[in-house]
Amino acid sequence: GMALDEAQRRGELCAVYQPHDTQVEIFYEELREALDANRLQVFFQPIWDLQANRIAGAESLARWSSQHHGEVSPANFVPFSEQSDLISVLTRWSVNATLRHVASLPASRGLSFSINFSPRVLSRPGMVEQLIGALEIWGVAPTSVVVEITETTLVNDLEVSVQVLRRLRDHGIRIAIDDFGTGYASIAYLRQFPATELKLDQSLICAMQNEPHTAKLVRAIVNMAHHMDLTTIAEGIENRATQDMLADMGCDFGQGFYLGRPEPAADFIARFTAAEPTP
Ligand code: C2E
Ligand code: MG
Ligand code: MG
Ligand code: MG
Repeated sequence: GMALDEAQRRGELCAVYQPHDTQVEIFYEELREALDANRLQVFFQPIWDLQANRIAGAESLARWSSQHHGEVSPANFVPFSEQSDLISVLTRWSVNATLRHVASLPASRGLSFSINFSPRVLSRPGMVEQLIGALEIWGVAPTSVVVEITETTLVNDLEVSVQVLRRLRDHGIRIAIDDFGTGYASIAYLRQFPATELKLDQSLICAMQNEPHTAKLVRAIVNMAHHMDLTTIAEGIENRATQDMLADMGCDFGQGFYLGRPEPAADFIARFTAAEPTP
């Protein structure tokens, strides 16, 4: 209501993130067809270097505009896909669609691009070969790609996942533990995954603004991560005060509506290419 909107405007409340609000009944055939027909879209959300105060790259986020349901959130169709082999199809689509856009950037840009992977696909045979193959086809350096492991479910085959992630690391691909601070396996992931980055979940970043003890927790996580040689990324930065607080804590990177909303990948790339000084 009005009071809520007003409180949100004053920055006293975080934008309420309720991924299951838009829950619709998705049909396997429908999503499968949309994937086959390339009717999903890739959006890029900028990732900002909080210390150098400049753009560092982007996270790739899938968007599905369904003929029957309108815009369906990935928070809705990703978990649905995870119940079948559709998640492999979605991941393969996501990798190729992302790299296609990355390949159109001048190589010298030095940006990093993050792609979300469900832990479920890590143990699928041929996963590593597929990703490496796609990088070769598109001519994208493995060192400019970050694989984000989203902690939606408990990994049932942790050992296989760890081996797969090691092989990705051997190729120079970076690994991020996504949504740290919520979910199931944070500490287990930290102990066992060969991660290079830790992404702090937006729920922590949002609560930090009004809860001093949460701010202390975030500071402690950033320090802990640095002790473990992990790069830190905060997600859900919605205002300047939060950006400043995180920069002051030494957090390396940030992402959020204040720094840039997800936008069609082509728009992100075009803006970038246009900004390049002409020789
Ligand atoms: P995620 O990886 O944690 O991505 C960040 C989510 O936070 C995105 O939601 C993004 O739009 C949203 N976000 C970014 N900045 C802000 C902010 O300042 N405030 C708030 N309230 N939200 C912000 P989105 O795009 O709806 O994606 C939801 C989740 O779906 C992602 O969470 C990721 O786990 C998953 N996902 C998205 N695309 C893919 C994909 O291609 N493959 C897989 N496997 N998962 C995907
Ligand atoms: Mg992510
Ligand atoms: Mg995340
Ligand atoms: Mg998240």
